Amino acid sequence: MDVVYMDNNATTAVAPEVKDEMLPFMTEYYGNPSSMHTFGGQVGRKIVEARERVAQLINADPSEVIFTSCGTESDNTAIRAALASNPDKKHIITTRVEHPAIKNLCENLEKKHYHVTWVPVDKKGNLDCDYLYDHLTDDTALVSVMWANNETGVVFPIAEISRHARERGIVFHTDAVQAAGKVSVDVKAAEVDMLSMSGHKIHALKGVGVLYIRKGTKFSPFMIGGHQEQGRRGGTENVASIIGLGKAAQMAKAHLGAGMEQVKSLRDRLEQGLLKSIPNTILNGDKQNRLPNTLNLSFEYVEGEAILLMMDKYSICASSGSACTSGSLEPSHVLRAMGVPFTAAHGSIRFSLSVYNTEKEVDFVIEKLPPIIAKLRQMSPFWKEGTCRAQ
Ligand code: PLP
Repeated sequence: MDVVYMDNNATTAVAPEVKDEMLPFMTEYYGNPSSMHTFGGQVGRKIVEARERVAQLINADPSEVIFTSCGTESDNTAIRAALASNPDKKHIITTRVEHPAIKNLCENLEKKHYHVTWVPVDKKGNLDCDYLYDHLTDDTALVSVMWANNETGVVFPIAEISRHARERGIVFHTDAVQAAGKVSVDVKAAEVDMLSMSGHKIHALKGVGVLYIRKGTKFSPFMIGGHQEQGRRGGTENVASIIGLGKAAQMAKAHLGAGMEQVKSLRDRLEQGLLKSIPNTILNGDKQNRLPNTLNLSFEYVEGEAILLMMDKYSICASSGSACTSGSLEPSHVLRAMGVPFTAAHGSIRFSLSVYNTEKEVDFVIEKLPPIIAKLRQMSPFWKEGTCRAQ
C-alpha cells in the first residue's frame, strides 16, 4: 500500500488539474500581470479569472477578494486592519481554540495594551456564544472567531455571532481556513466583514492565501508597496500559485455536495470501525456539528506520538493532539480548553480525509490501528485491563 494520507487539515495534495493549470505560468507565460504589454496582460487576465473563481466559492464579489501569501498573513492582516481602523478601541474578542495565527498574535497584542477576551468552549468543543455576547463592549474593536476548528472540526455559528457584532458596530473577522471547501461558506449570508482562506488546505500550493474584505469595510494594508490588489496588498503576485488556487476553489465548489458526502461517509466508516474495535476510545468534538472530513479520537493511556510513529511504519499519516513544548509533550490548547482529561488528551489522533481517500485505505487503518494501540497499552504504566469500559 502506498502512503495512506489522512492529514488533510495539515495540508493537502496538489490536485493534478491545479498543477496543469499552473504549469504554463511557471514556464512560457512569465510576464508581470501589471505590465502594459499583451504578454503580461494575458497573465493578468488569468488572475482576474482566479479571483472570480475564489469569489464564487465564498459567494463574494471578486473586488472583495485579495490574494496573500498564506492563511496566517490573511489572519494577521485582518486583525491589524481592524485595530488600525479603530485606534481608540483596545478590546479584542476571540476564542480559546483559535489557530496560532490568531492566538499568538492576540497574545502578542495583549502585551501591547490590548485587552483580549478568550471565549471558552464546552466539552464537545462548541463555543459559549452567550459568554461572547456578554463581553461585547463599546471598547471592542474586533471579534475574530474561526469558522471551523482545525483539530476537532467543530463548526461555530458564524452568521449568528457576526450579527451580534454588527448590531454593536464591531468589525467581525472569521478564519475559514479549514471550513472553505468542506462546508458551504457564504460571506453574504453570514455577513462577515473579513474572512481568511489558505490555498494548501484545498489542494492548491502552500504559500498562497485569500483575504475577503467586505465592500465598505475600513481597511489599511499590512503589506505596503505597489498598487497590486488595488493597493490593499503590495508585492508582485505569486502568479502560478494564485492561478492554481483559482482552479482549486472551482473544484472545491464542485465537490461541496456529493464529494463531501463521500468524504463524510468514509470518515464515519473510519470512526465506527475504530470505536468498535478499540476499547477506551473517546471522540473529541461534537459528533453532529463537525466538518465532514475530520475525526479526532483519544486512545486512553497511550501517547499520540507513539501511535503516529507506529502508524508511520505502515505509511499511515495523521496528526496528534500534543505538541513538544520545552522538551515535554503537552496536550494542545484546543483539547485543554475542552477539558479533555490528561489520560485521553495525550493519546489524541486527528484523522482528516479528502476526496482522494478510498474505502480500501479506511479499512487498512481499521485493520492496522487496533494491534498498535493494544501493543502500546501493554507497555503503558497507566493501562490496566480492568480500566477497560464497554463501548
Ligand atoms: N488557520 C487555521 C484554522 C489553520 O488550520 C491554518 C493552518 O493550519 C492556518 C490558519 C494558517 O494557514 P497557513 O498555513 O496558510 O498560514
